[in-house]
Amino acid sequence: RGKRAFIAGIADDNGYGWAIAKSLAAAGAEILVGTWVPALNIFETSLRRGKFDESRVLPDGSLMEITKVYPLDAVFDSLEDVPEDIKTNKRYAGSSKWTVSEVAESVKEDFGSIDILVHSLANGPEVTKHLLETSRKGYLAAISASSYSYVSLLKHFLPIMNSGMYLVSHLIAPCGSSISLTYIASERIIPGYGGGMSSAKAALESDTRVLAFEAGRKQKVRVNTISAGPLRSRAAKAIGFIDMMIDYSIANAPLQKELSADEVGNTAAFLASPLASAITGAVIYVDNGLNAMGVGV
Ligand code: NAD
Repeated sequence: RGKRAFIAGIADDNGYGWAIAKSLAAAGAEILVGTWVPALNIFETSLRRGKFDESRVLPDGSLMEITKVYPLDAVFDSLEDVPEDIKTNKRYAGSSKWTVSEVAESVKEDFGSIDILVHSLANGPEVTKHLLETSRKGYLAAISASSYSYVSLLKHFLPIMNSGMYLVSHLIAPCGSSISLTYIASERIIPGYGGGMSSAKAALESDTRVLAFEAGRKQKVRVNTISAGPLRSRAAKAIGFIDMMIDYSIANAPLQKELSADEVGNTAAFLASPLASAITGAVIYVDNGLNAMGVGV
């Protein structure tokens, strides 16, 4: 059979998660999606009404199929963690089994196993504030939604991830692969990427290395993160400086063009494939080379 992917963090057709889903689908993978509970209704309705049909078109002309959409809130690991006000919130009460452990359990019941896990989500309630102005609550919320959410997803999905190896010509390649999305603000100063989001991405990148070791030894699963350049996604628009970052990149990067989400999608498909059989614990830049510049010219 083809590979099966679970992609957490798709709620429209503008973000990196959607582009990754398309590249994986084009390469023959079956697509399962985890959508943030408050965004679930509108995403499913739009999908059903054909609002995304144009952006579902794959290179061979067929439409990407999403086999199943699961409600997910990646800041909660199990039902016991969910506070009363969320449980009774009307946007949440209409769905069930959306904590990380319950979603992994549902995927196991429905499909048995997956081969590819993608984490394409982040949230920092105080992202527009300077780090010096960020509250403890805001900082911890950024880390919870953007970094620990990945530890938790991998922890709960690892037991159902393919731990086999396949023979590709003379190479033995691990089947299981896990990918997240990060941003260069983790290692360089990007004024405006605040609220502890820069800290959250630094944690995510460090965790990528440690998780690569643990998941590699335990289950032969590879763990990598893509450091992506700026994209006008819903999340990025909320930060408020995305157009400026895109213009800055076009002006200063070695490759002077706008970055397409598909270029990140294609890298994810490569990383999930046997072509990347020896790549794990890595931060892969997909940013037109902007990370390599020392000064803007
Ligand atoms: P996006 O809005 O398409 O994706 C973010 C998703 O996270 C949304 O679907 C949102 O519903 C979901 N989400 C938020 N909180 C959640 C929670 N608690 N549980 C489950 N889902 C939750 O935006 P995007 O920019 O494509 O973001 C995807 C990833 O790419 C993020 O990790 C982001 O930091 C990273 N990234 C983005 C850029 C950029 O310029 N857009 C650059 C580098 C890295």
